[in-house]
This record gives sequence, structure tokens and C-alpha cells, in this order.
Amino acid sequence: MNVFYLGTSSKQENEWIFHRTLKSGKLQCLACPRHCQLSDNEIGWCGARINKNGGINPRTYGLISSLAVDPIEKKPLYHFLPGTGILSIGSTGCNMGCLHCQNHSISMSRSISSLRKMMPEELVQVAL
Ligand code: SF4
Repeated sequence: MNVFYLGTSSKQENEWIFHRTLKSGKLQCLACPRHCQLSDNEIGWCGARINKNGGINPRTYGLISSLAVDPIEKKPLYHFLPGTGILSIGSTGCNMGCLHCQNHSISMSRSISSLRKMMPEELVQVAL
């Protein structure tokens, strides 16, 4: 099994190496239990990973669909700092398949053309 990187690596910017090569030539993503078997340029079930350039790569790294300050009560936290705000950041793609998903149009979207570029360092500055 290969090593995986989040963020940057010495080999290639934002490269994600967490897969194995199957006898068929497809790459099997090992990032979650779905273990998608992907042909070249095929997008995984989640929409967030793609078999590209000989590896399983993130499609949405540094790309966000939403950024807002929400009331903390909107989050699945139990009685945590009531009355305060929390920074919510989202992107497209999800490996779940909940039938009741309230963010279906975002979580299941395969389009990334409308996403806004924002790297983690910028997000930290916004959060501060
Ligand atoms: S759903 Fe996404 S993260 Fe999970 S195995 Fe498939 S491509 Fe990888």
C-alpha cells in the first residue's frame, strides 16, 4: 500500500497517493470503504477524487462552495458555546449516500467550475 499525503508533497503539489493498482490497470482508491475502482480520468463515487495522471487525486482541493458564519446551534454539537457563531466551509463531494441529505445539490454535484479557489492558508486567515 502506498503512503498518502494531504496538502503538499515533495513529488507534486497537492498530490494524493492512497491507492493500489489492480491487475486490470484500474486504480483502487483506498481513502474510504467504498474502494472505488477507477479507470483513467474516471471520477469516484464521491465526486471528490479522480484517477488522473497515474494517481488518485483530489478534485476539490483548495476549492470551496460556501463560506459563512452560522449560529452554533445549526451544528451537530451538544450545548457547545450557545449563542456563538461558527465558521462553516463547504465544498462539493461526499462519500455518503444519505437519502435525506439537505445539501444534496452540493454534496452530489460533479461540477467544480463554479467553486471558489481558497487555499487552507487563506481559510485560516479568514477564521482568525
Ligand atoms: S468514494 Fe471517493 S474517497 Fe471513497 S473510495 Fe471512492 S473515490 Fe475514494
